[in-house]
Amino acid sequence: MGGRGRAASGDGEAGVVEGQQGAAGHRGRLAGVARAGVQQADRQRRVAEPGMDGLAEAAAKLDGVSKVRVADNAAYAHLLAEPTAALLAELAGDYSHVLAAASTTGKNVLPRVAALKDVAQISEIIAVESPDTFKRPIYAGNAIATVQSEDALKVITVRSTGFDAVAEGGSAAIEAVDFVADNAQSTFLKEELAQSDRPELGAAKVVISGGRGMGNGENFKLLDGIADKLGAAIGASRAAVDAGFVPNDMQVGQTGKIVAPDLYIAVGISGAIQHLAGMKDSKVIVAINKDEEAPIFQVADYGLVADLFEAVPELEQQL
Ligand SMILES: Cc1cc2nc3c(=O)[nH]c(=O)nc-3n(C[C@H](O)[C@H](O)[C@H](O)COP(=O)(O)OP(=O)(O)OC[C@H]3O[C@@H](n4cnc5c(N)ncnc54)[C@H](O)[C@@H]3O)c2cc1C
Repeated sequence: MGGRGRAASGDGEAGVVEGQQGAAGHRGRLAGVARAGVQQADRQRRVAEPGMDGLAEAAAKLDGVSKVRVADNAAYAHLLAEPTAALLAELAGDYSHVLAAASTTGKNVLPRVAALKDVAQISEIIAVESPDTFKRPIYAGNAIATVQSEDALKVITVRSTGFDAVAEGGSAAIEAVDFVADNAQSTFLKEELAQSDRPELGAAKVVISGGRGMGNGENFKLLDGIADKLGAAIGASRAAVDAGFVPNDMQVGQTGKIVAPDLYIAVGISGAIQHLAGMKDSKVIVAINKDEEAPIFQVADYGLVADLFEAVPELEQQL
């Protein structure tokens, strides 16, 4: 391909990837790199903290990446948005595209980069048509907009579930970046991370989600058995989160996480468009709902009209 692809990474939470030659002919590639970068980051972070050698090496092995630039400086610890955006804006001059996965971090940092560079931000693309033209869902995924940008620099967040991860096989150079952003605006105080042995929602191959039909937080434990057997992540509808059944980092949907696992099991979820927006790209959708009119059955590949309190234990037993 001959293009220059580079990944600049912070403390391991996000991969930010750019391709000098633009995205033509790379449908999925840049975004795939971005996604792989994040997945690798998750894996590497545990072994590589506080340095980033493991992460940089993992990124360097990705197909299509020819240089990895590493800014290993305390200024970027915890990927605070202001210094990270300043760093990317500083580096952006070398590139035609700056991409990040549309994760919490990507959505926090990239609009600031766009503002600093005085260009438009293009959000949550799901396809690359040409170097300046992209597709992105609007109206909770009910319509797909084709967006063309005339800006010299394209700043883009990528819905990584829309792309395949790239394979390994590269051996990119790793280069240190000296730029240290001056950050007087924000200070890291603390973070509270939910501890879980389950796979991360966004990366899980199987997701089982509960809705308001679960009745209460205690009943969510009903989903544990199936999740254990299938190695699944557990998600939830917003109604379940708003009712306090489960924490909001489990929310799937328009205002939660976007997932596209091989298998999505919706339990006691009606299938409001805002929920569908977060999971309808799943390969196989299974719905358990006692209301046969529930809209979730319109997107489900397999539907079970049943009381979840009977069906879920039965399903677990069958597994
Ligand atoms: C701007 C905006 C953003 C939103 N973002 C999101 C989002 O990101 N994610 C999201 O999920 N929602 C989102 N919503 C909310 C969304 O509109 C719905 O209100 C929500 O998804 C409903 O959740 P639910 O399906 O769990 O609850 P309900 O709609 O109340 O459905 C519960 C379902 O459980 C079934 N049920 C009840 N008891 C049983 C039983 N014993 N056995 C089997 N089935 C049973 C019922 O038949 C029903 O279908 C958003 C809304 C707005 C306005």
